[in-house]
Amino acid sequence: MLQKNHCNNHHASSALQKRIFVTGGAGYIGSICVEQLLEKGYSVAVFDNLSEGHRAAIDPRATFFQGELADRSFLEQTLRDFQATAVMHFAAHALVGESMLHPSKYFHNNVVGGLNLLDAMVATGVRHLVFSSTCATFGVPDQMPIVESMPQRPINPYGESKLIFERLLPWYEKIHHLTFIALRYFNAAGASTRFGEDHRVETHLIPNVLNVALGKREAVEIYGTDYPTRDGSCIRDYIHVLDLAEAHLLALHAKESAFYNLGTGGGSSVYEVIECCRRVSGYPILALEKPRRPGDPPLLIGSSERIKKELGWNPQYQSLEKIIQSAWSWHQAHPHGYQD
Ligand code: UDP
Repeated sequence: MLQKNHCNNHHASSALQKRIFVTGGAGYIGSICVEQLLEKGYSVAVFDNLSEGHRAAIDPRATFFQGELADRSFLEQTLRDFQATAVMHFAAHALVGESMLHPSKYFHNNVVGGLNLLDAMVATGVRHLVFSSTCATFGVPDQMPIVESMPQRPINPYGESKLIFERLLPWYEKIHHLTFIALRYFNAAGASTRFGEDHRVETHLIPNVLNVALGKREAVEIYGTDYPTRDGSCIRDYIHVLDLAEAHLLALHAKESAFYNLGTGGGSSVYEVIECCRRVSGYPILALEKPRRPGDPPLLIGSSERIKKELGWNPQYQSLEKIIQSAWSWHQAHPHGYQD
């Protein structure tokens, strides 16, 4: 067992909730959650293979273990060495389009890798997990906004891989007494002062638009202008990464396992995002109208009423303007990203 002492009183157990093992802590959302955990006085270990993440995105105050989720014995060893009391699991592949081309990559890393992590947690006595899930587990829902009770019918291997992992969790709770919170993100966006969004191959809308303002791209492409939406482009629910981080901190202390949607209840179209980036950056930003991108649902908006009610989540940055403002500040300060 990991505990150094055997006190069972409440005080000791809350102190033990302080050592957080973060898989994918060198990635976009993971790095910002690590930073926020450290700000709140937690001890943090980052477990990452740096395939998508960046060494420079690892907060220097964290302990870093470079490794693969596939390496079960290294996972166990690092959980033990760090004396982890809870795990936040961000490490995953997360591109819908790529998952349609390489499903095996998604099922191996997101399902088999995740299963290794669960088993390593059981073996080392770490009993609380906060899992990064996704609205992609819902597919194309019949109603908006999406609430937790709606049927989950993913339309791509990425969403399916996350749903399979979600389905393992209640079994590990029932049989191994692991408690979990699965957070289904809508479109994470924005930055903290120090850490931001830098993917080696960028496919996401806001960084693509801001890269035009930075002069790194000629134009941004609008994927589809004939959707049944208010202006013909897709609508997404953009949520500030710092509000996501806040939800993770609350999830660490949740008493009961649960699945929560994390959206804002509102959405912005591709045209609206581009217009907002023009206002915030002051650059004209050339946009080209293109055909639809395969696999894109027209409209995705999430309701977060459940997590507000049950965990007291209180988002602070729910405006597209604030989200883009923070992303623009970070991109201006890091015009070449993390440069590794
Ligand atoms: N999109 C776009 N141009 C881009 C990137 C994305 O028009 O260069 C659209 C995309 O079709 C989707 C929305 O912007 O409707 C958000 O896409 P993103 O890849 O950021 O997130 P997703 O919703 O796919 O997770």
